[in-house]
Amino acid sequence: MGEVEARDRLALVPGADCNLIGGRLVSGNASFEVVDPATGRAFALCPDASAADLDAAVAAARGAFPAWAALGYDGRRELIFALADRISAAAEELAPLLTHEHGKPIEQARMELAVSGHHMKQLASLDLPDEVLRDSDRGKVELRYHPLGVVGAIAPWNFPVALAMHKVAQALYTGNTLVLKPSPYTPLTTLAVGRLAADLLPPGVLNVVAGGNDLGAWMTAHPDIDKISFTGSVATGKKVLASAAATLKRVTLELGGNDATLVLDDADLDAAAAGIARSGFFNCGQICMAIKRVYVAESVRDALLEKLVAKVGALKVGPGSTPGMDMGPIQNAVQFEKVKAYLADALARPGAQVLTGGQVPEGEGYFIQPTIIAGLDEEVPLVREEQFGPVLPVLTFASVDAAIARANDSRFGLGASVWSRDEARAREVAGRLMAGTVWINRHGLNESDVPFGGMKESGYGREHGVLGIRSYQELQVISRPAA
Ligand code: NAD
Repeated sequence: MGEVEARDRLALVPGADCNLIGGRLVSGNASFEVVDPATGRAFALCPDASAADLDAAVAAARGAFPAWAALGYDGRRELIFALADRISAAAEELAPLLTHEHGKPIEQARMELAVSGHHMKQLASLDLPDEVLRDSDRGKVELRYHPLGVVGAIAPWNFPVALAMHKVAQALYTGNTLVLKPSPYTPLTTLAVGRLAADLLPPGVLNVVAGGNDLGAWMTAHPDIDKISFTGSVATGKKVLASAAATLKRVTLELGGNDATLVLDDADLDAAAAGIARSGFFNCGQICMAIKRVYVAESVRDALLEKLVAKVGALKVGPGSTPGMDMGPIQNAVQFEKVKAYLADALARPGAQVLTGGQVPEGEGYFIQPTIIAGLDEEVPLVREEQFGPVLPVLTFASVDAAIARANDSRFGLGASVWSRDEARAREVAGRLMAGTVWINRHGLNESDVPFGGMKESGYGREHGVLGIRSYQELQVISRPAA
């Protein structure tokens, strides 16, 4: 069958076939292909929003803004809760589509959808009062928080629904209206969620537009978008910031990471091995805050590796639609090639030791065996860069001070962790690790009431928690003399 013929047989997916613009479901004239990473073949078409569609979405969001802002926290919370309930209730029905476009195991797709609803409710429950900074003989000073206006949210492909819905909840709860763009690799489930909102939220409050990278660039340059909330790679984040500068948009960037974990000589090794296996390989290692390099004290190296290799070697890898898999394929061809290149480069290094995995299975789909490699030094790209895949390097250290310095010798600073039975020691090490979040005896927890974001090139600002959600608001000071 020729390629043209194959494309002719592709179709829009019922229920995920429309952008949501000003309360209307619009499929438009153009479309692009969505690939199933378990086969490497396109399986569906997605509507492709034009620049005019974006203009219409922004205009609708602008028009809906005054009434939505005036609704107040309680009124907005009620509607966000209703949308969250619809998303959670649709978890079973939408999970196969999420697995189809993303590759993740069906159970994890179900979980992502259900957790999205849960997180939306947590975020829309935060208490965000205006504050009195001072009321004294020097006068009364109040801090008031206003919505910004129209927010543009740009999402990545690794947790397409959850990461988008975090932005939806934060932007809408604080009184903004929103234009949301999913990743072109994983747009369909987000469009289906947009459909769930179509008859629930006032028209224009939430707009969902799918398209390519150019659509993201149009958003960052758009004169009538007031803030960009972006989650994605460092390279794109820099472009977003540069483009947003022209209109001085507010910008929050949640970017990549190269999280180090330090296993000290007094760690609970069973807990450390379980935590590293979970954090390093869940979602096929495609998590911004996944453990991406392990530093273990020389004296416990062998004991840790025995436990870690047993856990990672037992992971079940296969198509996400087959029940019971722990890991599916890498999400897309570009990422697949990137991870394969890191792996091949690491394997070619003198001294490299594959402790488990190391193979790219023959056959269709973007599968890579879960892999642990020892014997590498700091300069190897697999250690220095963000691999974003199921290939984990393990390095050893003789002194904790040196391990901290090596962990910090990175342009990234998203997360880090330390494993130790001695709480004071662990806290002391944690405070010296230059990362936005440092976990002790765990890694990678995502909690809606806790601010999250990166130091250095891993981010710009924070999301979640009261401190993070305030980035969707503008602070106003009201000041008057003492009565
Ligand atoms: P990406 O930067 O390639 O794409 C992210 C989004 O940006 C997509 O929607 C894409 O279409 C859009 N985009 C591309 N070019 C653009 C441009 N010039 N202007 C505006 N938008 C543009 O990232 P990805 O590959 O989808 O996601 C993986 C990356 O995201 C990893 O680096 C990962 O660590 C990071 N990430 C970070 C967090 C966090 O919270 N810090 C969470 C998840 C993922």
